Amino acid sequence: MRTLLAFLGVLVYACSGVSPTSSELIAFDGSSAMRFAEGQASFGARVPGTSAHTQAADLIQTELERSGWQVENQEFVYRGVGLRNLLGTLAGTQGPVVLLGAHYDSRKVADQESGSNQGPVPGANDGASGVGVLLELGRVLPSNPVGCQVQLVFFDGEDSGGLDGWQWIVGSTYFADHLTTTPEAVVIVDMVGDEDLELFMEGNSDPGLRGGIWETGSSLGYPAFVPIVKYTMVDDHIPFVRKGIPSVDIIDFDYPYWHTTRDTLDKLSPASLEQVGGTLQSWLTKCPTSLGE
Ligand SMILES: [Zn+2]
Repeated sequence: MRTLLAFLGVLVYACSGVSPTSSELIAFDGSSAMRFAEGQASFGARVPGTSAHTQAADLIQTELERSGWQVENQEFVYRGVGLRNLLGTLAGTQGPVVLLGAHYDSRKVADQESGSNQGPVPGANDGASGVGVLLELGRVLPSNPVGCQVQLVFFDGEDSGGLDGWQWIVGSTYFADHLTTTPEAVVIVDMVGDEDLELFMEGNSDPGLRGGIWETGSSLGYPAFVPIVKYTMVDDHIPFVRKGIPSVDIIDFDYPYWHTTRDTLDKLSPASLEQVGGTLQSWLTKCPTSLGE
């Protein structure tokens, strides 16, 4: 009898034609991503060791938890400075792990600045844009179940290379060296908010994974995705590439304000953030098939 009742229950539910989640699907909103980016940038440059840096990390944690994510802080000391990666996971999700990452720190010295003001870099595009995309994905993904376990990772210490003896990509290197779960795929977003967004493919990225993301973007009618390799970057995907994990860097490196004091919020566009976030949201719905072989 219990079995029969359970069966009837399923039947009634199936006939209702509405799944518990389909009526709640939330689309990635570029304006919301922009507000997340503004929240980050409003603290000023997130240079490691400063209060703005701590405030930014705290805000990431608060926003993730507000969206239902569990947050793990990975704290460590590098050359005498405390650094902090943040890892967001969703309880109850299953399937291969897909890691989406962005760095939230900003650079102390604007060494691409032609004028006398050499910093720090406000990091609106170089930092806050990627954070904005990830926090907005964090808001929408819980209502859009996918066949993978998504991890949202906010890396510290990406952008101080060559200053005071620092290396680049310090936070992601530490994270990749202390993996407890090996992701099937890693996707990094960095400098993705330029209002003149043009996303060429990146040379160190996994071709299969990269092709799937670019195809998804093009199929959605987003003009920013240009299926041609242009730059080869040292970015937060590299520590994972070195471990043989298929990884992609989504970056628009044609940004005249890179590492200048003019990398400010007025250079960003909600529509650009939406092209990137909307593409990733759609790509994840094909997971795990989208991960390829
Ligand atoms: Zn940078």
